[in-house]
Amino acid sequence: MKQYGFATRAIHVGQEADPLTGAVVPPLYMTSTYAQEAPGVHKGYEYSRTDNPTRRAWERNIAALEEGTDAIAFSSGMAAIDSVVRLLQPGEHIVACADLYGGTVRLFERVWKAYGIGVSYAEESTPDAIAAEFTPQTRMLYLESPTNPLLQIADIAQLSALAHARNAWVVVDNTFATPYAQTPLTLGADLVVHSTTKYLAGHSDLIGGVIVVRHAELAERLRFLQNAVGAIPSPFDCWLCLRSVKTLALRMQQHERNALAVAQLLAQHPRVVRVHYPGLATHPQHELARRQMRNFGGVLSVEFPSEQHARAFLQALRLFTLAESLGGVESLACHPATMTHASVPRERRLRLGITDGLVRLSCGIEETEDLLADIEQALAAVERL
Ligand SMILES: *Cc1c(COP(=O)(O)O)cnc(C)c1O
Repeated sequence: MKQYGFATRAIHVGQEADPLTGAVVPPLYMTSTYAQEAPGVHKGYEYSRTDNPTRRAWERNIAALEEGTDAIAFSSGMAAIDSVVRLLQPGEHIVACADLYGGTVRLFERVWKAYGIGVSYAEESTPDAIAAEFTPQTRMLYLESPTNPLLQIADIAQLSALAHARNAWVVVDNTFATPYAQTPLTLGADLVVHSTTKYLAGHSDLIGGVIVVRHAELAERLRFLQNAVGAIPSPFDCWLCLRSVKTLALRMQQHERNALAVAQLLAQHPRVVRVHYPGLATHPQHELARRQMRNFGGVLSVEFPSEQHARAFLQALRLFTLAESLGGVESLACHPATMTHASVPRERRLRLGITDGLVRLSCGIEETEDLLADIEQALAAVERL
């Protein structure tokens, strides 16, 4: 199906008409086990932790969208990332970019360090800063691009070459970009992870994760872990992912349209210190983003002069709901310093640029004019301070 474009693959791969009934939507197999004709004689399915037809359909679909060879689905983004770390041995080391998803830092620092997996964080995603963190034990480079919440862009092709020259695998958390915007495996990465909770499922109604791989050998090890550890998604959640991903291309176009309009409006306001959005020409890595991505996504962050300004803005928003998470059809706003990044020590937070006045917006797919009007009236509340 590689010859087909993204939206066509999203709708057709793993979603062939059901051979038994002709149903155009793959059936939802809510079953834990499968009848065997004789001991060990079965139709390829024995037990649903090991494999399930609905889950397999979703895995085939997302593998095709990320242009990988295989995909392995998990019950959450964190469970997927946890299985990626399990590819390493005690004593081995990860180099990660700065400005990582907070849950990933918590997993590295408070779960895996105790088992002998070391992690270093580069201050920036430049080749020099990343290379400086490598040790002889480094076996994995772990990247996010764009990052959360500052929307920094890493040059995935360049950093993949750098890591491969040092005998390390490259993992990219592609949650913020989605495969519609960028396919890290085609840029040299070995593994892609997703929180499907965000854009892939897209409707803020489930928690899920997935790993997509470039090499069959890694797929085999991860599929072993999926069954051995058992952090699997329900068939229903896989079915929802299959249905949701059919509209991913359309949704991403509207997410981007809204985010760009909101970013431009905010950037003009006198009380706004800075807007972080890779689609703005003023973004320091705009050229790299244009080269690497075909859509800049729906997330942006805006820096106000103080926490007081940020709070006034958040209080005044009507359509943007104050909540963690992102990537859903409805617009959300959050205050990283006290919400998503509250566990990051203040000094490190400030060094990274996650100030107390920073607000992160996830633009949904509502009417652009309505979102702009909401932002305008919230900015008026900031003015009145
Ligand atoms: C949400 C998120 C995760 C964690 O995924 P869950 O589905 O919440 O477990 C990991 N990485 C990024 C970039 C995320 O936004």
